[in-house]
Amino acid sequence: MKRSEFAALRASRFWETTPLAEMSASQWEAVCDGCGLCCLVKLECEETGAVDYTRVICPWSDPQTARCTDYPNRHVNVPECVPLTLARIAQFDWLPPTCAYRLLYEGKPLPPWHPLISGRPESVHEAGIGVRNYAPIPLTTEIDLEDFIIQLRGATAD
Ligand code: SF4
Ligand code: SF4
Repeated sequence: MKRSEFAALRASRFWETTPLAEMSASQWEAVCDGCGLCCLVKLECEETGAVDYTRVICPWSDPQTARCTDYPNRHVNVPECVPLTLARIAQFDWLPPTCAYRLLYEGKPLPPWHPLISGRPESVHEAGIGVRNYAPIPLTTEIDLEDFIIQLRGATAD
């Protein structure tokens, strides 16, 4: 997204008046805070369904930028990488508590470090929220995921 388009979206404060279901594609895109946490590998308990995050990250993620290195082909590269759509958000209780889609879906405001509020993409990392703050390591076959479980920070950090 071009900087000018993001600035115009930010100025409109669309997320305060436009439900997720009615957002345009560019509005939907701007809601993502770029934290990269959804690209961390997760462990799900078979009995309880509880999800633990690890600091092991998808090998297609760039841990410095927290961006996918092959976004157009992500579903081919990683079949379990499913697109985040409104229809699926309700089932995505594994999303981080700070995920902006989850916050808006739950009727909560965006936090101060969200780029739509701060005006700066770096603020999500400076606030300790972004994936860089967890010293991510890329997924390999040798890794025992249980050794890398982390506790994610909450949505109220500022
Ligand atoms: S966790 Fe949510 S806000 Fe963060 S990168 Fe993923 S989709 Fe975007
Ligand atoms: S394929 Fe890309 S978007 Fe999907 S989990 Fe990996 S890094 Fe994230």
